[in-house]
Amino acid sequence: MSTYGIPVLILKEGASRTYGREALRNNIMAAKALAEVLMSSLGPKGLDKMLVDSFGDITVTNDGATIVKEMEVQHPAAKLLVETAKAVDAEVGDGTTSAVVLAGALLSKAEALLDQNIHPTIIIEGFKKAAEKASEILEEVADSVSVDLETPEGIEKTRPILKELAYAALASKYIASPDVVEHFINVVIDAVTTVAEKRPEGGYLVRSDNIKIEKKKGSSLSETRLIKGIVLDKEVVHPGMPRRVEKAKIALLDAPLEIEKPDITAKINITSPDQIKKFLDEETRLLKEMVDKIVAVGANVVICQKGIDDVAQHFLAKKGILAVRRVKRSDMEKLERATGGRIVTSVRDLSENDLGYAELVEERRVGNDKMVFVEGCRNPKAVTILVRGANDMLLDDAERSLNDAINALRNVLREPKVLPGGGAPEIEVAMRLRKWAETVSGKEQLAVLAFADAVEEIAVILAKSAGMDPLETLMELRKAHASGNKYAGINVIEGKITEDMRKLRVVDPLSVKKQVIKAATEAATAILKVDDLIAASPLKKEEKEKKGKEEEEEKGLSKPELD
Ligand code: ADP
Ligand code: MG
Repeated sequence: MSTYGIPVLILKEGASRTYGREALRNNIMAAKALAEVLMSSLGPKGLDKMLVDSFGDITVTNDGATIVKEMEVQHPAAKLLVETAKAVDAEVGDGTTSAVVLAGALLSKAEALLDQNIHPTIIIEGFKKAAEKASEILEEVADSVSVDLETPEGIEKTRPILKELAYAALASKYIASPDVVEHFINVVIDAVTTVAEKRPEGGYLVRSDNIKIEKKKGSSLSETRLIKGIVLDKEVVHPGMPRRVEKAKIALLDAPLEIEKPDITAKINITSPDQIKKFLDEETRLLKEMVDKIVAVGANVVICQKGIDDVAQHFLAKKGILAVRRVKRSDMEKLERATGGRIVTSVRDLSENDLGYAELVEERRVGNDKMVFVEGCRNPKAVTILVRGANDMLLDDAERSLNDAINALRNVLREPKVLPGGGAPEIEVAMRLRKWAETVSGKEQLAVLAFADAVEEIAVILAKSAGMDPLETLMELRKAHASGNKYAGINVIEGKITEDMRKLRVVDPLSVKKQVIKAATEAATAILKVDDLIAASPLKKEEKEKKGKEEEEEKGLSKPELD
């Protein structure tokens, strides 16, 4: 209200506003609710969630990243957690459930501090300090793994270690026969060690986009193979073309080898057969010109993102050129990197320098289909995992698992350090944080202690999921860690405490655990910082439709298309 009793409106009609403590509580509640959904999915005994999207499609999964992606979360604070989970997934490809659950636990502990009238900024500061310290502690307790991918002997020595890690990534999630798991792990290790690049600051960089996963229905999972090069799910376009070209000089075209039809329908008056011939001759001449250009720069393979006209195919075949058409953009980019060529958007601009190189381009039969293999590329750090399997579900499942294993190895190679799993590092971090808290002055100390409790919550949840008594387990583990055993953790599968998690092959990369702490703290503190929630009133159905239509028109989507 202004001084004269006239209301001052700063918000649009229908907008709602909550602020101060109420807004904060509201946000915390929403975030905690989301965390609670994920809680029961943590660990190898985590339960599945069944998600039905607005189209009625069903997903059953216990993968945190998939759950939050499929859930249509409404509340802004919960959405923030979803973003956090997605960020963790993009960064390290694992630890999403842990991050959301930890953020929820942090907020829950923060709530208790708010009840004691501790100001949010103090809690935020305390949490930030604790997170930094927790990261340091993780670094301290992590074990280094020695990886050497420089020589074949080095790789052979490193292989068993990588095997353990890939196994740890797959064992709890992937339900396939042990033979298949073993085979997949070998394929992934071969792939990862092929594409790994040494980093000047230590460790190795594995670019995931150097590893292409191509699925082809048929045969069995154990027929999955690593190909050193790029595999295209395409055939050679013309029967008269060679099926095999050695020392391939490859033109990568993002231009049609066709005469493009004009946008406007033009009327051509033809009065004699002569004119038809002239007209067609002209088209043929233009296509021949394109092919001549390709021949002139010395290409013997054409890989085209667009179409290739029959006449052009015929000319290419006559020149002994192997051609493939309608290749996906992402594959074109992979080919660009692999063969060292350059994608050209107009045949006229093609030059010899744009050509890529591969030892061999060959069409091979895979199951009932044909695929084109580009092998021995200029850049040997481009590989394809060709996944075989009886049906789409098996293939998708296999792809996910291969990605999990690739991520796990990528994380460890980047920073070759691992931590025992099963709650062991969480107990250790909590213990050391509590000790360190004594050096923190003021009420921030309480926030650090609360942080320690929240981290420990992960172990408590794992214990619960294994059907163990959570408190008793916690006390036992604290005792073990206090006496100096940092490897004591929870054997979730058998529901008991284990002195040495490493013996169970349950280990997590340090980078994942650090990312979990970092992301969860960022999310929790971001939510604690908000003291005002202003929400525009949701659009009514017809308004929504109207708005959608307007936007569409702006983009010109609803305009009738010209032929
Ligand atoms: P996230 O999405 O956070 O990766 P997961 O469901 O993969 O969630 O669970 C990861 C947690 O489960 C880690 O703390 C890991 O150490 C633990 N874990 C995985 N396998 C086992 C096991 N066999 N025994 C005990 N703990 C395990
Ligand atoms: Mg995981």
